Amino acid sequence: MRSDTDIQQDGKVLSDRVLEKTGVAVARCYQCGKCSAGCPLASEMDFPPSQIMHLLQLGDFPEMAEKALRSHTIWLCLTCEICYARCPMEIDIPKVMDALRHESLAQKKVNPKARGILAFHRAFLDSVRYTGRLFEMGQVIDYKLRSGHFLQDLLQAPWMFFVGKLHLLPERIRDRRLLGRIFARIAKTRENRP
Ligand code: SF4
Ligand code: SF4
Repeated sequence: MRSDTDIQQDGKVLSDRVLEKTGVAVARCYQCGKCSAGCPLASEMDFPPSQIMHLLQLGDFPEMAEKALRSHTIWLCLTCEICYARCPMEIDIPKVMDALRHESLAQKKVNPKARGILAFHRAFLDSVRYTGRLFEMGQVIDYKLRSGHFLQDLLQAPWMFFVGKLHLLPERIRDRRLLGRIFARIAKTRENRP
């Protein structure tokens, strides 16, 4: 029996959707574990990268796809590509992780421990969207409001301000319309994804 997690309107299991989005066939993984052995964040992950591949291979069991989509791993992945470089089957794991993050967001299955990471991503992107640059002060405030981590790293702020790393006002690029067009194009590409 398959659940909504595993099958969407198109009737495809998660590994099929990953294949369609990325061109990466996780079925080729033979579980040698070289990716996990080289991953700098494996010790922090709930499932090391080779286990994520295994969960996808077991896509006929809905709870396995569910575990992959709800994992903390997919949000910790740095896209450093060490796993990809080590894999004897040349499986592009960072691409798979990216596709899983999209699925996890779309299905509202983000691991609660990843909320801070997501808040940081969104604060960063908003800063770029509205100014064309990284406005650190704005990003910090945005991140704290989104994450609720109000006291985190607070003692660093005076020092960063003193050495000129935090500015009170943002610098903006001149052609903000161009920036708007870039973001609109990205949004359209995402809409058209399978
Ligand atoms: S290195 Fe490649 S083949 Fe080996 S477990 Fe990782 S993904 Fe699978
Ligand atoms: S790309 Fe992600 S999964 Fe691969 S080694 Fe780097 S952090 Fe680990």
